[in-house]
Amino acid sequence: MSAQHEAGVAATHRVVILGAGYAGLSAAIQLACRVKRSEKVQVTLVNAQERFTERLRLHMTATGQRLAELSIPELLEGTGARFERGWVTAVDADAKTVRIDDERVLPYDTLVYALGGVADTAAVPGVEDHAYTLNSAQDAEVLADRLSRLGSGTVVVVGSGLTGVESAAEIAERHPELNVVLLGRSEPGAAMNPKARAYLRAALDRLGVQVRSGAEVVKVLPGAVELAGGESVAADAVLWTSGTRVSPLAAAAGLTVDEHGRIVTDATLRSVSHPEVYAVGDAAAIRQGYGVMHGTCQGGMPTGVHAAVSIVRELKGRRPRPFRFGYYHTPVSLGRNDAVVQFTHPDDSPRRLFLTGRIAVRYKETVTASPWPTWGRMKKMPASGAFWPRGGRFTRVREA
Ligand SMILES: Cc1cc2nc3c(=O)[nH]c(=O)nc-3n(C[C@H](O)[C@H](O)[C@H](O)COP(=O)(O)OP(=O)(O)OC[C@H]3O[C@@H](n4cnc5c(N)ncnc54)[C@H](O)[C@@H]3O)c2cc1C
Repeated sequence: MSAQHEAGVAATHRVVILGAGYAGLSAAIQLACRVKRSEKVQVTLVNAQERFTERLRLHMTATGQRLAELSIPELLEGTGARFERGWVTAVDADAKTVRIDDERVLPYDTLVYALGGVADTAAVPGVEDHAYTLNSAQDAEVLADRLSRLGSGTVVVVGSGLTGVESAAEIAERHPELNVVLLGRSEPGAAMNPKARAYLRAALDRLGVQVRSGAEVVKVLPGAVELAGGESVAADAVLWTSGTRVSPLAAAAGLTVDEHGRIVTDATLRSVSHPEVYAVGDAAAIRQGYGVMHGTCQGGMPTGVHAAVSIVRELKGRRPRPFRFGYYHTPVSLGRNDAVVQFTHPDDSPRRLFLTGRIAVRYKETVTASPWPTWGRMKKMPASGAFWPRGGRFTRVREA
């Protein structure tokens, strides 16, 4: 390698983004478009698959509905970002390298960590062996296959959070021949206002979903789940949606993580232990005035955009600004023909206003399909990506 070439390589700032979900893709498109004209910045996006996983629609995949084929390299077209397909097996935070498929090594100057999170299959015995999940498109397809061959029987959905509710409703609507039981600690829609919650419950009743709240599953067996207290609920298939687990890579790399393994960030989304690492989306523990953000797409995309804007500021010698985000809605599908959309205060507490029925279905679909127009606009006009509710007085950020 010539000295001139070596100097050129050394002068290039290499940004590697791990994970092409909603947050990682937002970071990649935003950053690549902002630095497109600079030969001194190289953006590489790494993801396990070339196809974009529409997590917001995995309950549809699980009931055999075909989704659009969205190619990550196509989504990046025209941005100048490179795509590297592979499974990230290690991050070496001292050497500033990332290992892919245990064979390739990618060096970085700045890392954006966006590996997301999945349902926690390790917390309860038997889940890993006997339960289905929506942790990936492949997992959802395996469940779809099982459901299509059940004929009749009982499907137990564990977890009464929004993924559990959407899944139970979708399965009941698509497979009226099956008994669907939704088991969870709390009431479905517990965080909604009483009227929205009642609507959600009535929709589940109409679809024939048997709801059992206050249930603590302690074991999953080959044909049943066992509850605390010893009761056993027969199940021909168990879908596990409870809890969240993140990749162990960040902790293994020595980055400061919280009790769930998420990277603890400062107010600007940089790792508190490794400021050359930005953490975004579900993989990050991001503190706002109201507490630590919980994993959503509505908050994940802004975190990706903010990290990208901050990297550009740092490259120009400026200080990155604090991240601020306020929630604004909780849209929940109840099969294909019904939904409830709870509008929220920035801290995610429910407002009085909510939508139901066809208008809620249209709202939910618009939200679910919105990343594509958002990324398309960002490619033409990067600044358009920076519009999201900052949360006003609810989001006074305290430096970590
Ligand atoms: C059924 C369902 C419905 C949902 N509905 C909503 C909703 O209505 N509204 C909402 O706001 N949120 C919803 N969510 C939550 C939302 O999907 C997540 O909050 C969001 O996907 C987080 O985005 P992310 O980019 O952080 O992670 P992800 O979207 O999970 O992306 C992470 C990416 O990293 C890749 N990856 C992970 N590990 C590795 C590795 N080691 N090597 C290489 N690649 C790796 C994954 O394959 C994936 O592509 C829903 C989730 C589910 C499951």
